[in-house]
Amino acid sequence: MTETPTATPSSATMIATANPATGEPVGSWPVDDADRVAAVVAQARRAADTWRELGFTERKRALQRWAAQLVSHADEFCALIHAENGKPLDDAYLEVITAVEHLNWAAENARRVLEPKRVWPGLMMANHEAVIEQRPHGVVGVIGPWNYPVYTPNGSIAYALAAGNTVVFKPSELTTGVGRWYVEAFAKANPALPEGVLSVLTGPGETGRALVTSGVDMIAFTGSTATGKRIMAAAAERLTPVVLECGGKDAAIVAEDADVAAAADAIAWSAMANSGQTCVGTERCYVVASVYDQFLAELTARVRDLVPGSDGDATYGPMTLPAQVDVVAEHVAAALADGATAVVGGADSVRAPFVRPIVLVDVPEDSVAVREETFGPTLTVHKVRDVAEAIRLANDSRYGLASSVFSRKRGMAIARELRAGATSVNSPAAYAAIPALPFGGVGESGVGRIHGEAGLLGFTRPHSIARQRFAIPGMALQSFARTDSTLATVKKLTVRRFGRAK
Ligand code: NAD
Repeated sequence: MTETPTATPSSATMIATANPATGEPVGSWPVDDADRVAAVVAQARRAADTWRELGFTERKRALQRWAAQLVSHADEFCALIHAENGKPLDDAYLEVITAVEHLNWAAENARRVLEPKRVWPGLMMANHEAVIEQRPHGVVGVIGPWNYPVYTPNGSIAYALAAGNTVVFKPSELTTGVGRWYVEAFAKANPALPEGVLSVLTGPGETGRALVTSGVDMIAFTGSTATGKRIMAAAAERLTPVVLECGGKDAAIVAEDADVAAAADAIAWSAMANSGQTCVGTERCYVVASVYDQFLAELTARVRDLVPGSDGDATYGPMTLPAQVDVVAEHVAAALADGATAVVGGADSVRAPFVRPIVLVDVPEDSVAVREETFGPTLTVHKVRDVAEAIRLANDSRYGLASSVFSRKRGMAIARELRAGATSVNSPAAYAAIPALPFGGVGESGVGRIHGEAGLLGFTRPHSIARQRFAIPGMALQSFARTDSTLATVKKLTVRRFGRAK
């Protein structure tokens, strides 16, 4: 059976995780230092040829066996996600099945998207066959966050593996157990594969840093914008390609023709689910004046009684990262100091490790609560004159991850005006659960795309091959044997083809 790599940990330091709601220990593992990172990457490199040469069909079978392993042991997996991240079991299950949808899509579609394609060589090179072959990068280092500890790294890992790369995964130090379980499920499902097709490293940011500079052929990172910038700078040293999925400050727009109750329902879930620790969760909401009062009433009725906790009655869990509680408290305090009013909850809703829902109105646009990612169960609601003002304010952000729009007739038109990597019309975050749609941000929300065809292509590099099928006597353009009459003929043809605008 393929286990996680066998290279002996060279550091005695351990890293431990604990249940964020109760503080109970979940597990502890050695911290992987730079030597261990190098050994694991070397093992991944040794496995790369075997995995690539398996081809699309066999890789698809291996990935689907892994999906079956995840689904058939989902209860055990979800219990671990609940213990380590804190989210309710049902939310953990939703995360796992969405990840499996992506895994299956990547497995099913890799051949169609990545198999070699012949392209027209053009008249001038008509004696050539022109082929694009999409080659895997080799070894991809994947670094993940804790908020969706399966779905988010899987969005890189599934697509990288389907494209023929081997992967070394460094999960968040807060969800190390989940990361290891996920990787070990691949090995259990595929005992005949060599070690190193998918490996896991355990440790804090320092281990991730060692992975970035280890000589891997690509880095796929999901996490905060601040870390993403550090990774891009470190990767620049060797021009290692990166895809960066970073933070956001997503906006929702409620137009005058929206189904207001449905919009309130979707926005309440988007803002508060997972304790607001969702990269594409709504943090700002712009509502056209004519439906503002109705929207606020519908919204507050829905969020007022939501209960954070860790038992079966909880609608969402604790804050997973203790330091994030302070950020939420700071943003709420700043908004109130800036003149905002809390219409649901307030400063005393923040009681670590839980934060009850907070809805703020009349928050100035320059408040930190509007400009920076809060990553808690908070929402700012802004009254705007019309949709044009909503679009202008929604776009006025250094982030640009995703967005949502609620309008019966103009949803698509408004979506096209938004500066973001994705938009959901009349639902909260549908794009994230549709594997064929590329995912990723603009501005300081990230670089590159995962998911869909763009995701598969991003984990490969095109290798262009032009094969001369036959020589045309006297027409050798790329040769010192070229004659004056050859060039005269080419000039004449070029003038005929391009010399007159149609
Ligand atoms: P983080 O940036 O603190 O950590 C993410 C990962 O990077 C962890 O595994 C960490 O150990 C590692 N790391 C830290 N410093 C590093 C370094 N110098 N070099 C290499 N690796 C390093 O983020 P987080 O707190 O785990 O996650 C929350 C953030 O992630 C939020 O900002 C959220 O918006 C974002 N996020 C984005 C997406 C997306 O798809 N765009 C999805 C989920 C979360």
